[in-house]
Amino acid sequence: MVGIVVVTHSAMLGQGVKELAEQMTQGRVPLAVAGGIEDPDHPIGTDPVRVMAAIEEVQQGDGVLVLMDLGSALMSAETALDLLPPEVAAQVRLCPAPLVEGVMAAAVQAAIGADLDTVLREAQAALAVKAELLGMPLPREGAPGGADEMASPAAAAAPEASHELTLMVPNRLGLHARPAARIVTALGPFVADVQLARGERMVSARSVNRIATLAVRGGETITFRATGADAVQALKALADLAAENFGDAPDASGSSAATGTAAHGKDGAAAAPAAKGGVPASPGVAVGPVAWHHPAFDAPPPDLAAGTPAEETARLEAALDAARRELAALERRTAAVAGKQEAEIFVMHRLLLDDATIAGDARQRIAERREPAEAAWYAVIDEAAESFRQLPEGYMRERAADLVDVGARVLRLLTGAPPSGPRLDRPSVLLATDLGPSDMAHLDPALVLGIVTMQGGATSHAAILARSMGIPAVVGAGALAANVADGITVGLDGATGEIWISPAPGVLASIESRRAAWQAARQAALAGADRPAVTTDGRQVHVHANIGAPADAPAALQSGAEGVGLFRTEFLFLDRAAAPDEEEQRAAYAAAAAAMPGLPVVVRTLDIGGDKPVPYLGDFAAGEDNPFLGVRGIRFCLARRDLFLTQLRALLRAAAEHPLRVMFPMVAHPGELAAAKTLLDEARAALNAEGLPHGPVEVGIMVEVPAAVALADQLAREAAFFSIGTNDLAQYVMAADRGNAAVADLSDALHPAVLRMVRDTVAAGNAAGIPVAMCGELAGSAEAIPLLVGLGLDELSMNGPAIPRAKDVVRGCDMAACARLAERALDLPDAAAVRRLLAEGG
Ligand code: PEP
Ligand code: MG
Repeated sequence: MVGIVVVTHSAMLGQGVKELAEQMTQGRVPLAVAGGIEDPDHPIGTDPVRVMAAIEEVQQGDGVLVLMDLGSALMSAETALDLLPPEVAAQVRLCPAPLVEGVMAAAVQAAIGADLDTVLREAQAALAVKAELLGMPLPREGAPGGADEMASPAAAAAPEASHELTLMVPNRLGLHARPAARIVTALGPFVADVQLARGERMVSARSVNRIATLAVRGGETITFRATGADAVQALKALADLAAENFGDAPDASGSSAATGTAAHGKDGAAAAPAAKGGVPASPGVAVGPVAWHHPAFDAPPPDLAAGTPAEETARLEAALDAARRELAALERRTAAVAGKQEAEIFVMHRLLLDDATIAGDARQRIAERREPAEAAWYAVIDEAAESFRQLPEGYMRERAADLVDVGARVLRLLTGAPPSGPRLDRPSVLLATDLGPSDMAHLDPALVLGIVTMQGGATSHAAILARSMGIPAVVGAGALAANVADGITVGLDGATGEIWISPAPGVLASIESRRAAWQAARQAALAGADRPAVTTDGRQVHVHANIGAPADAPAALQSGAEGVGLFRTEFLFLDRAAAPDEEEQRAAYAAAAAAMPGLPVVVRTLDIGGDKPVPYLGDFAAGEDNPFLGVRGIRFCLARRDLFLTQLRALLRAAAEHPLRVMFPMVAHPGELAAAKTLLDEARAALNAEGLPHGPVEVGIMVEVPAAVALADQLAREAAFFSIGTNDLAQYVMAADRGNAAVADLSDALHPAVLRMVRDTVAAGNAAGIPVAMCGELAGSAEAIPLLVGLGLDELSMNGPAIPRAKDVVRGCDMAACARLAERALDLPDAAAVRRLLAEGG
């Protein structure tokens, strides 16, 4: 076997390279490091004697390849050759390849028994691979496309039958260096010419470098073509390797063996069932062609007036700053909700934003051409994105989409335009990095079969809004979704989080029958939706809707909502450049009330901060280590009186037309409620003074902070109603982030510790004679409803599509049995035990 010597100035560096190579080849290749020098005070350097000793150590008769880091390493290696006996030196090659890539490529080739010249060639090609991946291919000699990329002589002559294996790459990171090395190693024993094709490009599957140039990603379809005596066995070995995720550990997302494996001939790998893809976000089943949503990036109008260059530059800087803050907030939120790795896309976007050439070019255009900031920014991004698009490598071309994403963000902040939302021209499964509330507001539910997002958790905006619109959704699908192209068929089950990419016909049929069953159940529940929810022994539980925009109200009404239990007004403020003014807000609140004629409508005042930062409002969260424990909800409103007063005025004015209830979020103690009521009085007095019509409002609070439960008796004296927000209450009671999957068993609202808080709140409400509602996600969980009824809640408020089934469940409840169920649940030790109790039907 060919031996390898690594010559480095630092022994540590050499050791690291050695470890990496050994990991790739399971230590099968003789490899020695000649690193550093024998001087404890100045250990950095190279020593020809060490190089010579290393060569002798790995020499087994098949030759030795020497790779060096830089400078004197080269001289030391040459000197070592002079010191060696000529017959040994004749068997040594010095290799100019870049150290790390060169050693990896050489080690893999050596491990499969390649000869010294092949090992040398493979190592030398390593720099070209990196250059190509960076979109800067090195000039090549000889045939275009490179000798390695052409079909081998065996294939060119093609006298033999060719066998194919087409499969979808199951491992999330695709054919990166280690899977590539495993492919080459797996092919080692077989006499066969094996090529690997991705799209139009085909390379030798026996070269780690060539495989790397294809930049194959997880979820992509590739084809191996083999000819020669062992072609069938070679493909079988590859199929086995693919079935084992190409040797990579199964992904956290569970995206093992993706479906859609298309096998040609008898050599194909078997199709696997579903790929479990992400976080279940909105129940229902969908299947259809994928349509990607990228934020719109359109040229600004040509007649835009420019200020002075100084003014335009200042505007650009302000927009860049705001974009940085938005991205930092998104990064933080996504890291908390979906994990650090998923958040990295926003780090990358920030880097693009900070790229000196892009911002610099835009400034230069403003200075030299006196362009408005919008025009300069658009031109620079458009040009840069176009040059990315021209690059040969798919990986680099995808950076164009990221650049446009960043470009669109800054442009939106410059123009103040709201995001335009996804545009679909046929029923599709919508795919997006993430969807903001205003994207969701622009959705046409008739065209959106389902939603898959790369980021986000079950309580992210996209998830909450998808539930309220009845659209099946899986969020936080990460790289699994990233690699799916427009038009590919995708199936999803929003109740389980499963995603199928290009499902095979049999799998497709079973997804379709799942969808039919889901739709039938929905129709059946809708049939009785407008009847009240009264238990078998005559207690009515009011079932209300949670909405994020007035537009959600009509559908909720159709689903049987008896009012709105929670209008999350912060959604009116998100994803835009400036807050809605008093009139816009008044119109929105009045529209929600008008859509629920004669029914109660609870409007919650701004609940921002925490996971819902609004950069233009002065992002407290940006400077907070623990935004969920910081200035959010009522704390934010009391800190921003101006903003709060505008909202309160809008609410009072909307109440002139329809009665409204006002609810304050995140109240922890009576002082906050008193302060908020004082401001409400102030707003009323101002409207009186201005002679503007307004109406009376009832004032209630969300109970979602443990302190509010502890002081519920005091708060009940000042509030007209309570509504329990279990999403936050659970995270604060259990000290477990509501968006962190790792502590999901703790932040589960069914935990007896949380249920006891619900019990205590209901008791305080009953004692004071005020109604107690629940508007957290738990209220819409059909399984939990008997328990909630047993705990004595007067009202349950949930996303519209959950209402028909919830009412059905209430109608099947018997108060005495539900109360017993609640008592048993309160005595259990954890949420899992409560879930078991509910699953057993009490
Ligand atoms: C809750 O915390 O349960 C709640 C309804 O509020 P949000 O989810 O908007 O924080
Ligand atoms: Mg809350």
